[in-house]
Amino acid sequence: MPDNLSPEMRSKIMRSVKSKNTRPELAVRKLLSAMGCRYRLHRRGLAGHPDIVFVRKKKAIFVHGCFWHAHRGCSFSHIPSSQFWQRKLSQNRERDKRSEEALKKLGWTSMVIWECEIPDFLTLKKRLARFLELRPETNYLVR
Ligand SMILES: [Zn+2]
Repeated sequence: MPDNLSPEMRSKIMRSVKSKNTRPELAVRKLLSAMGCRYRLHRRGLAGHPDIVFVRKKKAIFVHGCFWHAHRGCSFSHIPSSQFWQRKLSQNRERDKRSEEALKKLGWTSMVIWECEIPDFLTLKKRLARFLELRPETNYLVR
């Protein structure tokens, strides 16, 4: 992400931060469907606005883009030198932390999937199965 952006470009990008149905999220949803999981999306009114929710299980999944959510130590996520971006990204991180805590208070458990973790489908599948407490045989549905 270049540091010197016109105000128009910057606000265009900032709007896209909030956009739903990002590519990483779609990949996770595809995987969940292949695992035979039924989920809901972006449940309104739920604290923290998680991307994918399992209402009965009270489990929520956040799919985070590495740049926007400032994934530490990740090669997808360089911290820009401009103060604007540094502040913005640290605000995003703070918000993520608050979301997780708010859900916890309501008795929900949540899981964060980072964009950079998605290509490793096998590991991701195992993590999801563990998180969702799926029967082992359910896992074999996923290729
Ligand atoms: Zn990452």
